[in-house]
Amino acid sequence: MATVTVPVGTAAFLLDIEGTTTPITFVKDVLFPYIKEHLEEYLTDHWEEDECKQDVQQLKKQAEEDHRLNRAGPVHTVDQTVHTDEEKAIREVVENVLWQMAADRKTTALKQLQGHMWRAAYNSGRIKGEVYQDVVPALRKWRHHGMKVYIYSSGSVEAQKLLFGYSVEGDLLDLFDGHFDTNIGAKVESKSYESIAERIGCAPEDIVFLTDVTREAKAAEEAGVNVFVVLRPGNMELTDEEIAHYSTVMSFSQLELTGRG
Ligand SMILES: [Mg+2]
Repeated sequence: MATVTVPVGTAAFLLDIEGTTTPITFVKDVLFPYIKEHLEEYLTDHWEEDECKQDVQQLKKQAEEDHRLNRAGPVHTVDQTVHTDEEKAIREVVENVLWQMAADRKTTALKQLQGHMWRAAYNSGRIKGEVYQDVVPALRKWRHHGMKVYIYSSGSVEAQKLLFGYSVEGDLLDLFDGHFDTNIGAKVESKSYESIAERIGCAPEDIVFLTDVTREAKAAEEAGVNVFVVLRPGNMELTDEEIAHYSTVMSFSQLELTGRG
């Protein structure tokens, strides 16, 4: 594979996760199916714990809200009466969560429960964060040359730390100088990249952003950040125009630092 040279003044790398450091299928084929398959078991095991009680409470509130706004079908609202029948209550929560997931909803209540389930799964080794083989050696090299490495993903900072903290290659959190999620702004907004540059404390032109999504690449470019679009198996294909416009790499090992070996 041909190498491409990163700009001479590069001081920091900013990395997307899905489709960049990690197969795009990880979330779709590992994380989400895990929730669907283990939801009932998780609720049964943790039903009496405070955290789980709070999660269920949030889901009920959301279901009430949905019911009021007529968003949910009648079958999918969580019954609000006090249950003596735990099994029935759990079944209703399961039904509500599966319905929300099928509708691709991003409610805080849903995300909170998912986050807690994933945390338990990573902690127990039932899930390991996938990372492409070329990622860790590249990160070590960049850091060796004094460059900083940051993550910017639409997954929460907590989810990012789980993925890299419990990865197939062990705990990788030492390789990162910081994490950003959409609290700093959307990934398709150029303002977000300006804010990140400010937070990192370096000029946008001294940052290299790696992503698989051209809308994100465009936003970063508008902010003055250098961009390489990462082509990984299963990623969305670029148009001919995009191929002509962006520098692309298929592996982090193609990124070469000028005069730094
Ligand atoms: Mg991505």
